Amino acid sequence: MSNNFWHQRFDFLFARCALICADEMALKLFNTLSRSIQEFTPLDPAGKTIGMYCCGPTVYDFAHIGNWRTFVFADLVRRYLEFKGHAVTHVMNITDVEDKIIKGVRETKKPLHEFTGQYEAAFFEDLKALNCREPHHKPHATEYIPQIIALIEKLMARGVAYQAADGSVYFSIEKYRAAGHTYGRLLKLNFDELRPGERVKNDEYAKESVADFALWKAHTPEDGEVAWDSPWGKGRPGWHIECSAMSMKILGQSFDLHLGGEDLIFPHHEDEIAQSEGATGQSFVKYWLHGAFLLVEGKKMSKSLGNFFTLRDLLAKGFTGREIRYLLLTAHYRETFNFTLDGLQGARTALARIDECVGKLRERAGGTAAAPDTELANAFTAALDNDLNISAAWGAVFEWVRKMNRSLAAGAMMAAEAASALAAWEKIDSVLGIGLAVESEAPPELQALILERQRARQAKDFKRADAIRDELKSKGWVIEDTVKGAKLKKL
Ligand code: AMP
Ligand code: ZN
Repeated sequence: MSNNFWHQRFDFLFARCALICADEMALKLFNTLSRSIQEFTPLDPAGKTIGMYCCGPTVYDFAHIGNWRTFVFADLVRRYLEFKGHAVTHVMNITDVEDKIIKGVRETKKPLHEFTGQYEAAFFEDLKALNCREPHHKPHATEYIPQIIALIEKLMARGVAYQAADGSVYFSIEKYRAAGHTYGRLLKLNFDELRPGERVKNDEYAKESVADFALWKAHTPEDGEVAWDSPWGKGRPGWHIECSAMSMKILGQSFDLHLGGEDLIFPHHEDEIAQSEGATGQSFVKYWLHGAFLLVEGKKMSKSLGNFFTLRDLLAKGFTGREIRYLLLTAHYRETFNFTLDGLQGARTALARIDECVGKLRERAGGTAAAPDTELANAFTAALDNDLNISAAWGAVFEWVRKMNRSLAAGAMMAAEAASALAAWEKIDSVLGIGLAVESEAPPELQALILERQRARQAKDFKRADAIRDELKSKGWVIEDTVKGAKLKKL
């Protein structure tokens, strides 16, 4: 065979390999809109900036562990995009007026913001305890009433909304479809089963009761003092229009990513698409990501079954935010996850293995600095690029732990090698957000401060790190840096 043949063959294989490698570098995500795994390409022609909206909490109660699965999933998406060099604008709204909130206000006789404020404050404390990055924008629905009204006016002007005899304003699915739009983009709907002309005023309804949904709800005596003036009289917004108004105001008419739990696919997200595209005539969101539900001990969470846990309930049982975050991050986001207390014990054991290995590496490295080793980061990236395959990512982490332990036990690891391994761990931990164990009896909010100090030190923001140390001191705690990580001791 001629040399030329082998050259051509080699060139072909080389080109193919380059293609495959380039392909492997691309992030692929399951888009509910196309019902398929697609390569993620931002709307920004430079491929750098990303607009991401995640439906936030409805602040009528403490967030439960199922809610937290979804918010930790959103944090993973954001952290991974940032790890890949994107500039993410993360928006998470606070739903502070909707049906369940009105019911709570009525029952507790508290003013609206006093009622929602307590749960909102608790939500952000919990978010910190789980080491989720704080969203850049946290809009409240009640602060966006003018934008909501303007959006409904646009829908009226375009003939896809109407005021009914009850005074409320509804979105007309029939008119929207007649204008050439598709209703049922995220979920296939059978319009033969639809009941034309029917209307639904509740925010939540099943797909069997698809009907014109409320954009503006006319005031009723049950609403009490919760009301705003509008061109259609006193009333309050429907839940779905709130998210359309807030997301488009902050991220623009078209943006990259919209996230939420799978229960939001219908009607909430379907209605968001209809309202937004009905008003602007432009494509609303490029990628829709939905996290599967969390079950507790194999069952749907419910107060009567005694399997309903808020984050606070689990912290009170002695588990840490770090252990809970780890457990929530062990399953692929599109798989139903069975949360158990045994699983949390398992999380403790798994984290101890990582901590022990990282502690030994730190000891071996001494003060040596080195560039991160690429092997761990490559395996980790290959896993997460594949529709955020977190189980494979953890597989890579524990394989690395085994390898490091073997090498450390054999006394074969040089200080520079240990430093390089440590740097690799810190790099991927910017996505996992596990950090190092904080050994102390300190309350979770102080432990969150310790984690923040670790991050500040990693980012060489020593000013912030020192400010946190001073803050802890003023609260009566002193930090001791040990090879295993930071320790909080009472002064
Ligand atoms: P809510 O405060 O009810 O509006 O819910 C906040 C977020 O939690 C939404 O994205 C929901 O889809 C999500 N969610 C609610 N229950 C669960 C659950 N059991 N598992 C996972 N996500 C959930
Ligand atoms: Zn929403």
